[in-house]
Amino acid sequence: MSEARSTHLWRPYTQMKHAAPPLEAVATTGTRIRLADGRELVDGIASWWTAVHGYNHPHIAGAVAAQLAAMPHIMFGGLTHASAERLAARLAALLPGDLDHVFFSDSGSVAVEVALKMAAQLWINRGVAGRTKVLAFRGGYHGDTMGAMSVCDPEEGMHRRFGAWLPEQIFCDLPRTEAETNTLDAALTHNRDRLAALIVEPLVQGAGGMLMHPPEVLARIATLARRNGLPLIVDEIFTGFGRTGTMFACEQAGIVPDIVCLSKALTGGTLTLAATVARTEIFSAFWSDDPAAALMHGPTFMANPLACAAANASLDLFEREPRLEQARAIESRLTDGLADLRGLPGVADVRVLGAIGCLQFANTPDLAALKERLVARGVWVRPFGDILYLTPALSIEAADLTRLIDAVTDTVREEAQRLNP
Ligand SMILES: *Cc1c(COP(=O)(O)O)cnc(C)c1O
Repeated sequence: MSEARSTHLWRPYTQMKHAAPPLEAVATTGTRIRLADGRELVDGIASWWTAVHGYNHPHIAGAVAAQLAAMPHIMFGGLTHASAERLAARLAALLPGDLDHVFFSDSGSVAVEVALKMAAQLWINRGVAGRTKVLAFRGGYHGDTMGAMSVCDPEEGMHRRFGAWLPEQIFCDLPRTEAETNTLDAALTHNRDRLAALIVEPLVQGAGGMLMHPPEVLARIATLARRNGLPLIVDEIFTGFGRTGTMFACEQAGIVPDIVCLSKALTGGTLTLAATVARTEIFSAFWSDDPAAALMHGPTFMANPLACAAANASLDLFEREPRLEQARAIESRLTDGLADLRGLPGVADVRVLGAIGCLQFANTPDLAALKERLVARGVWVRPFGDILYLTPALSIEAADLTRLIDAVTDTVREEAQRLNP
């Protein structure tokens, strides 16, 4: 690879001086990625959890092509368009309760920034000063922009490096035990006049390491938030659109969050789009005779028509094809397929939720070598920290899922053999 090629492009989360050059992809179909050298990989992680219907679905491609011909983009200030109107109404209908008010932006991190700003301005509009903190949970990940970083896990996140730049927030453990519940309750009481909101990833903390918790934990958080009069922001950017076996993870806890963040699979992994959706009680605080009470946000490419057309087409596919059943079928395949790895030397944990299968190693393995071995077996994964996980397209065919599971189980068994011959 030429020097120019390797340094003109800045890579994500990568020490470029030492990393192997990235593989060059030239085409995708279904759950396969074709590389420039002719190899074909089965995608085990659906392009960072986005491509839930697989790649190049003709229905999404057709909808985007039609929108492209009619109107690729139009500013959203003072203008509207049918794709956005329709998408907002459909999201409102799909989300529980009166989560009916949709603000579009371009990426997950920005959807989180908008949620934080909604919480901040909610209290400003109510004439309450001093509520400038958010309570977040250890193990969480909410994005890479400054506000989003401030609510990520304080140890694993980027606080150590950027600490001085970030607003200081309040952190608790997820209330799994009675003691943790009491600690959360006490933190909420103690900081009552400083807090603007709580934020949590429902059922699984994704980028924090696929850390899963039962629905009761989420329900407990919702109850405590309500009791303290605080809005609960539920970050469904990873979990939304079937990943955990229901359309949204919060459904499994039977809660209605005050604000929900959506992105990743919103357009079926085709175009960049995000949404921050609020309940009517939140929206009402901005509905006023005072112009300054309006939500003070407006991304240039807000509600991009191409992205909205893709998202509408993706929702069509959820209606026409059995995605949630497929997610639950993947759950049982992953549960059976990964079960044997439990207790092997070097394997600390195996956990599955919906179409998420995760292996946690006892010690951080050589991730580059691990990935290379899986690529050699025709499988694309991106292990991080001490985990290797599978989050395939919900539509993945049985043979491809078998190939993913076999590649992972064989590789981990070989590793165990090496550790304990
Ligand atoms: C990926 C992710 C984000 C950030 O989304 P970007 O589109 O990468 O900015 C935020 N929250 C969660 C839970 C995520 O998984």
